[in-house]
Amino acid sequence: VSPLSHRLLAMNESATIAMVKKARELMAKGIDIINLSFGEPDFQTPQYIKDAAKQALDDGYTFYTPVPGIPELRQAICDKFKRDNQLDFQPNQIVVSTGAKQALANAVLSLVNPGEEVIVFAPYWVSYEEMVKLAEGVPVTLVGTLENEYKVTAAQLEAAITPRTKLIMYSSPCNPTGAVFSREELGEIAEVLARHPQVYALADEIYEYINFVGEHASLAHFEAIKDRVITVNGFSKGYAMTGWRLGYLAARQDIAAACEKMQSQITSGTCSIAQRAGLAALRGGRSSADEMVAAYRRRRDLVLDIVKDIPGFNTPTPSGAFYIFPEVSAYFNRLAPDGSTIATSMDLALYLLNDAHVSAVSGDAFGAPECMRFSTAAADDKLVEAFRRIKASLAKLG
Ligand code: PLP
Repeated sequence: VSPLSHRLLAMNESATIAMVKKARELMAKGIDIINLSFGEPDFQTPQYIKDAAKQALDDGYTFYTPVPGIPELRQAICDKFKRDNQLDFQPNQIVVSTGAKQALANAVLSLVNPGEEVIVFAPYWVSYEEMVKLAEGVPVTLVGTLENEYKVTAAQLEAAITPRTKLIMYSSPCNPTGAVFSREELGEIAEVLARHPQVYALADEIYEYINFVGEHASLAHFEAIKDRVITVNGFSKGYAMTGWRLGYLAARQDIAAACEKMQSQITSGTCSIAQRAGLAALRGGRSSADEMVAAYRRRRDLVLDIVKDIPGFNTPTPSGAFYIFPEVSAYFNRLAPDGSTIATSMDLALYLLNDAHVSAVSGDAFGAPECMRFSTAAADDKLVEAFRRIKASLAKLG
């Protein structure tokens, strides 16, 4: 029998990380793989942020920090919420963590009791359901429709809430679909939540700055429910700081205190140098992000222009983030040149990896088994080459 805990055994490995591992194995054999499976900006962290980290080392910021983050950074995060989102928070409502991922995990583990239901809007980011399972909660998947850009509606939410529902979780802009909730749509969701005072919301806004439609709306904006909204954000996407492991949440003070307690026993807070760098990032505003967003938008348009000529790639236009998420089920039950049948999105992803040498992630991992996710955070010429190869490989299917 396995010595591992039931809790661990019930969890799946991150599918994106698993696919990247496979791609790296082929790369190690010298095969020219174009990796479109990772959710990572291909930009360097802006120089002024790197400089702040070097300065932090020289200034001796090498000690433990307060568990919820250094006071200057928590204040700068409050200033950011005020400036960008018109939201009022006090520093004692902010918890800085080891990536937005830890902020999400802190919140789920702090709020969810065994057996409580967590409604996860699908297609969802890979880790949400696994975090709920880790908390021994029950994930309830609500799938948006292709016609509505995969956005879950207020009516769907209302129908899914039960007396056991504790939390809803979603990202906007969404990984994997790139869909962005409008203020109006979030207002309707807020009205539903207002009728169910036992339900909390975890709003993942990590792609806030990577938005091609303009307005970013926050659920915490709605007065009647704002005390039940935990807003998560971070530096990985907007400031191209994935490796620094820096994210945060903002919540009602008692919930923030609970997340601080959780974090105090697990990581003691995140890296002191990364926090000084994050402070500089926020003080520098968002102009460096705006430059990256212009590139992401150009690449989105470039890719959509190629993909529209690939039959059976039903691709909604993403409003944000850096992915496309086509519906690819037209390729199921088709024959590969080696005689094997493509039965699932996973089979198709493996076929594309082996034949086109392009890695993507199958939709199963996101709660959408008819779909596939391709990152568009790669150089323009790589993207053009990748989709040229994909088109050629798909054309070989019988
Ligand atoms: N939330 C979503 C929707 C993401 O796509 C990611 C990263 O891929 C994260 C959270 C985690 O970000 P971080 O690097 O800050 O942990």
